[in-house]
Amino acid sequence: MEQITFSIEKQYTCDVLVVGGGVAGISAAVNAAREGAGVILCEGGSMLGGTATAGLVGPFMTCYDKTGDTQIIRGFFSEFVERMVQKNGAISYTQNPGGDSHAGYRTKGHIGCTPFLPETLKRVAEECCTEVGVKVLYHSMLVGCEVKDQTISKAYFATVEGIVAVAAKAFIDASGTASLAAKAGAETFRGDENGFLQTASMFFVIDGVHKDELDAYMAQHTEMRERFYMDIFDGGIADGTFPCGTQKLRIYERPDGSWVVNMAQTDNGVNELDGEALSTALIDQRAQCVKIFEFLKTNIRPLRDIRFIESASVLGVRESRRMVGKTLLTGEDVANSRYADEQIAVCANSIDIHQAVGVQYVAYKAEKNYYIPLSALVSKDVKNLLAAGKCLSADKFAHAAIRVMPPCFAMGEAAGITAALATQKNTSVWSVPVAEVQQRILAHGGYLEI
Ligand SMILES: Cc1cc2nc3c(=O)[nH]c(=O)nc-3n(C[C@H](O)[C@H](O)[C@H](O)COP(=O)(O)OP(=O)(O)OC[C@H]3O[C@@H](n4cnc5c(N)ncnc54)[C@H](O)[C@@H]3O)c2cc1C
Repeated sequence: MEQITFSIEKQYTCDVLVVGGGVAGISAAVNAAREGAGVILCEGGSMLGGTATAGLVGPFMTCYDKTGDTQIIRGFFSEFVERMVQKNGAISYTQNPGGDSHAGYRTKGHIGCTPFLPETLKRVAEECCTEVGVKVLYHSMLVGCEVKDQTISKAYFATVEGIVAVAAKAFIDASGTASLAAKAGAETFRGDENGFLQTASMFFVIDGVHKDELDAYMAQHTEMRERFYMDIFDGGIADGTFPCGTQKLRIYERPDGSWVVNMAQTDNGVNELDGEALSTALIDQRAQCVKIFEFLKTNIRPLRDIRFIESASVLGVRESRRMVGKTLLTGEDVANSRYADEQIAVCANSIDIHQAVGVQYVAYKAEKNYYIPLSALVSKDVKNLLAAGKCLSADKFAHAAIRVMPPCFAMGEAAGITAALATQKNTSVWSVPVAEVQQRILAHGGYLEI
């Protein structure tokens, strides 16, 4: 490989560096700062929220247990939602019984979901960061790091100024792609044992839905729950006018009356780590969005007057590279509710695999609450590295359950607290007692079933 030398234009120093400003990164940065750490959050793009904002993905999946009775994701997640509600940018999970337009007319996983506006999420995230002194550096793309004795000392970012270095005591990879872990030489992996990934999907936004008519149709066809208008889609697939593989109507109303459409997809996943493949997928899916829009407008009567507002600026990547932690959380762990003593989050989302090739179904199910242990956020190779959100240490099945946004908030909160405690104690993240992290999570209003 050709080596090029760049000069370092600027150097920053902090206690905790968070790479990636999606919901996991926001939560990690704010919670580390609330524990007294000096925090820098480097984000490659120009907004916080990641998949939730640039990707237009929503609503937040449920924060309740399977019965819908007990809220199990709380703490920073609850506070964040409340702040969005105050700005009329979200409808609280307490107000969403599932089965209606905000839940995409679905109940499974959608009782107690939270529809929100990306614009509000961006602003609330910036406010939360600013209030506690998190320095947010936008347009800062991680390009490398310095590692010695299994410890990262600095990370390097390509920025508008050139290369900038950030030195820190603890590092949190919230890139969604385990990019920091990979650059640090920590073990990472991607997909299942054959490298197959879940499908990637581009969201787009519409308005002009005749909601009363759609509500009425859905109320009369509850037996079709997951397959609304299937006769129309089957016809479109048969004659080639319906262009993609979702084969189902997936639209969700947002708090302002606009709707997100989650129907474009690349069936075999996308190599999101290859710039050329990613660009091709973006172009392909943006074109798919337009064709899907036209199909919906032409064929679904309550959608006859819809307008295309925007497509997402980033591809929705459900599954990417992940860090290997001290524990690799598995689908069996989830199904058997293991790690009930070292949990940093309690979850209940189903094992939800969107995949056209390779493994699509699993023999076991997440029927009870299950747990994310701190050891699944801690790198097995690098002493001062944690991962939070989509790039945590989990096999395909566990990942398919906990990749949704409420657990990502919870993982970020735990990672931020752990990193801050490690810097206070001047120790590695490996040595931070899980009981102390749990105590801080509970003090912040979290729920651990303890
Ligand atoms: C199609 C689709 C539908 C989904 N539907 C739902 C749903 O309905 N409800 C739900 O709750 N969840 C849903 N999810 C899951 C959920 O949206 C994501 O798993 C979650 O938002 C991931 O958050 P994150 O913070 O871990 O990562 P991301 O949101 O991926 O954030 C990572 C951030 O890191 C930045 N970054 C990446 N690389 C670098 C780098 N090298 N340097 C600096 N910054 C970098 C990115 O720009 C990004 O801002 C869906 C996901 C997809 C893809």
